[in-house]
Amino acid sequence: MSRILIVEDEETIADLEKDYLELSGFEVEIENRGDKGLIRALNEEFDLFILDLMLPEVDGFEICRQIREKKNSPIIMVSAKKDDIDKIRGLGLGADDYMTKPFSPSELVARVKAHLSRYDRLIGSGMPENDIVEIRGIRIDKTARRVWVNGEERNFTTKEFDLLTFLAEHPNHVYTKEELFREIWDMESIGDIATVTVHIKKIREKIEFNTAKPQYIETIWGVGYRFKI
Ligand code: CA
Repeated sequence: MSRILIVEDEETIADLEKDYLELSGFEVEIENRGDKGLIRALNEEFDLFILDLMLPEVDGFEICRQIREKKNSPIIMVSAKKDDIDKIRGLGLGADDYMTKPFSPSELVARVKAHLSRYDRLIGSGMPENDIVEIRGIRIDKTARRVWVNGEERNFTTKEFDLLTFLAEHPNHVYTKEELFREIWDMESIGDIATVTVHIKKIREKIEFNTAKPQYIETIWGVGYRFKI
């Protein structure tokens, strides 16, 4: 099911759009403030964005610009002013479509469907698929940098993610803390091999059922760590 984010401060409009899109089988999330919408747009997985232009805190221009730096999903910009639409086109922010309010909700649904199917075709025709590592209930999406444990998503810091991914990609191989530190932290990093211990502990708290009896990352006493296969 495609997931859509609507960033719109006029709640009645947002709700109407949501109702119509949900009736067409889409999963829809709404944010009424620009700053909150931006955070979700950058940190969650959405297949399409519908952005109002004038929003509290952060406007639609800025949200569009920042999404485009990170993602290729379709963006539909909406505004009450025709002039604004012309302005956005002129700026070349990378939006895929523009609609002037008021518009009919069914017109919006039609455009959403068109953009999603076009985007799907685009992905199917050559954009690489996400790089996935999967071991015993742990699924790591290296491309999106997301991790699921038994189907439930867990959040990792950058280094935790890098460390977990490195170990999971080299299962059954014992690495010393020194090796892991060299592998994951660059030379300028402040810290030492104790950093590795701290990160392993944090990772275990997120992936292990019982951290006292780790099922994934084993401690090999006096040597280091190994990801069990
Ligand atoms: Ca507005």
